[in-house]
Amino acid sequence: MSAKTKIDVSGRTFGRLKVICESDQRHNGHVMWKCLCACGNECLAAGSSLKNGVIKSCGCLHRETGLRYANKNRVYGFSNYKANHPGGSIEDLEDLIR
Ligand SMILES: [Zn+2]
Repeated sequence: MSAKTKIDVSGRTFGRLKVICESDQRHNGHVMWKCLCACGNECLAAGSSLKNGVIKSCGCLHRETGLRYANKNRVYGFSNYKANHPGGSIEDLEDLIR
């Protein structure tokens, strides 16, 4: 196993994802890490994507916020977010999707 393309992110947290362990999956030679999302889903992510902030959730973040992007004047995503995060503010949401 080559250590060259391996970015060790085990145990670290990126956005909603906590890295559990290295998976046996490789993508273009890069290690895919098994992550546990705050929503309870597990997913695989490349270390570089995690480090660069490209991936911050299993995809639930995009499900919650995607509609907001689709129409910025009508905050569809936020009501979703509020349902899951009572007391959350629009600023918190923007922190998450930044
Ligand atoms: Zn999730």
